[in-house]
Amino acid sequence: MRPLDLTEKDPSKKVTIYFEGKPYEAYEGEKFPVAMLANGVYWLTTSTEGRHRGAFTFGPVPVKVNGVKNVNGRKLKLKDGMKIERQRYDEFQEQVEIDEGKPVLRYVVDVAVVGAGPAGLGVVEEIGGKLTVALIEEKDWLGGDMWLKGVEQEDFGNPREAIERLTNFPENVRVFLKTTALGVFDKGEYFLVPAVRNDQLIEFMAKRVVLATGAVDSIMLFENNDWPGVFRRSDALEVMNVWGVAPGRKVAVVGAFPEEITAELDRWGIEYVVVPNPKRVEGNDKVERLIDENGNVYEVDAVIMADGRIPDINPITQAGGKLYFKRGYYRPVIDSNHRIREGIYVAGSAVSIKPHYANYLEGKLVGAYILSEFGLEAEPCIYEGKLKDYEPVARPVPKLPLDGFNGEDVQICGCGVTLKKVDDVVKSGITDLQIIKRLTHLAMGFCQGRFCLFNGALLVSQRSGTPMDRLDIPVARPPIKNVKMKVVAGR
Ligand code: ATP
Repeated sequence: MRPLDLTEKDPSKKVTIYFEGKPYEAYEGEKFPVAMLANGVYWLTTSTEGRHRGAFTFGPVPVKVNGVKNVNGRKLKLKDGMKIERQRYDEFQEQVEIDEGKPVLRYVVDVAVVGAGPAGLGVVEEIGGKLTVALIEEKDWLGGDMWLKGVEQEDFGNPREAIERLTNFPENVRVFLKTTALGVFDKGEYFLVPAVRNDQLIEFMAKRVVLATGAVDSIMLFENNDWPGVFRRSDALEVMNVWGVAPGRKVAVVGAFPEEITAELDRWGIEYVVVPNPKRVEGNDKVERLIDENGNVYEVDAVIMADGRIPDINPITQAGGKLYFKRGYYRPVIDSNHRIREGIYVAGSAVSIKPHYANYLEGKLVGAYILSEFGLEAEPCIYEGKLKDYEPVARPVPKLPLDGFNGEDVQICGCGVTLKKVDDVVKSGITDLQIIKRLTHLAMGFCQGRFCLFNGALLVSQRSGTPMDRLDIPVARPPIKNVKMKVVAGR
């Protein structure tokens, strides 16, 4: 077994790949960063500023594969003999390429559900068999965030078994995996949801749309928070529970919600220490130690950010939804039928942070509202009642020790935007996030603000004394994922 393997892998799939000229053991179809992690290699790419990066925090992972540049190493699935080399960010431009030679695929359905986590699956369970449905999911799995979990989930039990129970779809439900929805646009009586699968554009025309697009991991700010060996919570969950590889031999768990991660580390018997107030990560091309705000030093080889999740607001604002700030995060304003506006519904973590089962129930509730709108029998009050048992999670709004940090070492955005860069603009008196975006490129790179905009808002709020609920959060522009503009323009 490789140094960080937790499980035996299928020996018939064993292959050899070459990274920077050196051979490594890998498995056919394994993700490149996972194979390198299993071999104890964390540094995979170099940012524009020359910072060494891994694949598990943020920012792209450009690599050269068999001499071909601009491959996103984060998603690269391995084959025998692949030769992979590091590529710097500054030479990289990832785009979802559309092969314009291919005819556009078009589907007309009653309801387009974007996102196949517990909420999306709840919607489909409620309306499937009664209305025609397109279930659009960008990942190659169903079950969303819950698919990454190994431990029993409140009221759901075993996560994998629960997902299996929910994915027995009737005939009028069409599932589109590895398909990324780019936005929602008005088209007369229909909504147009353009989406991309591989290099193929697909246009969904739907009478109703459900945004069950979930939440994103909170990115914590501390010095060298992008160091190879620092993990976002979902990446840490994925490497352990999907790929059977440990994030490290001894792990530091940081953030306000450590239990979510420590329960999983316990399951695998991985040694850890919980550090509530991280200040700085240090090491040579990988994490070797973490230092907290009190100067305590922890010898660890990985750091996992366990700071919970916040709703992904980009699909909401792009579709015309408004936001408000409650319980420590921005969330959509919805009417009594869970709509951000006529015809567009929202369910699950996209609305508020709560257990998976509550998000599933909220999906069922939205499904029931839609059935009623179509004049079909439905009892939304059953789910309204059940949902009252689940209070959404409140996230403490982090208090950043701004003047205690070396802001040049704190990455606020994976695209090379440091805390110092943004802080200097804010300290000069500019507190309008729209202008800060233009001046610093915050929220204008690969994640389009998903991971960095919240921290930008937090910084402005803390420096200017303006409460988070009074800040003007920039609206996400279509397409909500990287794609050539001409693909959606004019269609
Ligand atoms: P929970 O947060 O409890 O897991 P949920 O269903 O509300 O429940 P997720 O599990 O995060 O939330 O599921 C949301 C799903 O939406 C994810 O699987 C994600 O890949 C998918 N998704 C988000 N944005 C898009 C998009 N633009 N196109 C296609 N799928 C998307």
